[in-house]
Amino acid sequence: MHTIITPAILNTSLHVLAVPAFDDNYLWLIHDGVNAAVVDPGDAAPVLAALAARQLTLVAILLTHHHADHVGGVPALLRHRQVPVYGPAGEAIASVSQPLREDHLVHLADLSLILKVIDVPGHTRGHIAYYAAGPGWLFCGDTLFAGGCGYLFEGTPQQMVASLAKLAALPPDTLVYCAHEYTLSNLRFAREIEPDNAALAARIDADQARRARNEPTVPSTMAMEIKTNPFLRCQENAVVVRLQETGRLPAMLSPVDPVATFAALRAWKNSYQ
Ligand SMILES: [Zn+2]
Repeated sequence: MHTIITPAILNTSLHVLAVPAFDDNYLWLIHDGVNAAVVDPGDAAPVLAALAARQLTLVAILLTHHHADHVGGVPALLRHRQVPVYGPAGEAIASVSQPLREDHLVHLADLSLILKVIDVPGHTRGHIAYYAAGPGWLFCGDTLFAGGCGYLFEGTPQQMVASLAKLAALPPDTLVYCAHEYTLSNLRFAREIEPDNAALAARIDADQARRARNEPTVPSTMAMEIKTNPFLRCQENAVVVRLQETGRLPAMLSPVDPVATFAALRAWKNSYQ
């Protein structure tokens, strides 16, 4: 008789479902057809509807940061079912029962899923991201967006550059599940920065077609972000030159300062129409 060797504990029936909410939020439902965890439930109603439609049992809530459009649905979900609430230790979120910091592991036994915590301050002071190495999923809230990055409400450009660098170091095929459908607007700004970037032009065509079919442009891949997202390209000559020739960055000798480049890009994007 031969022994059947079971491959690594990877639950191959896991799925990630986009639950749209408000104008442009995505609440992410990780499920295996039986149990589900939700990431950043800003609103409970669409989550409860998605759980009911698929007869899923909620087993955990994961939060990336304290903004209301990411945590607003938690009290109603806890009234529906008492589950652990994972969230950043560095932010005051009353409902969090499992405070998390860099390198903590979240073990969702009901889903056979382990997520690693990455500290990514910048958008907010204590923002965290969740990375599932098995399937290669990143839930990054409002830190890295498809084609862009989060507004700096509480952190500094230096913090955000360091946070984005940690995410960019993940494997290229990592699926980037950000929390908003901002992609086409972000890519319009990206084209302003790099009009000659062929990968960016192709991405704009592909993502415009997705939106025309009313499909999400999220998740993207980390490889795509590195090729087309200007906020991950602060060391690229074309990006630096574009900022210099528009007077947003002083003409500098090498080495390029990625923090100054990022700050100039972020300031431009903040006022870009
Ligand atoms: Zn936010």
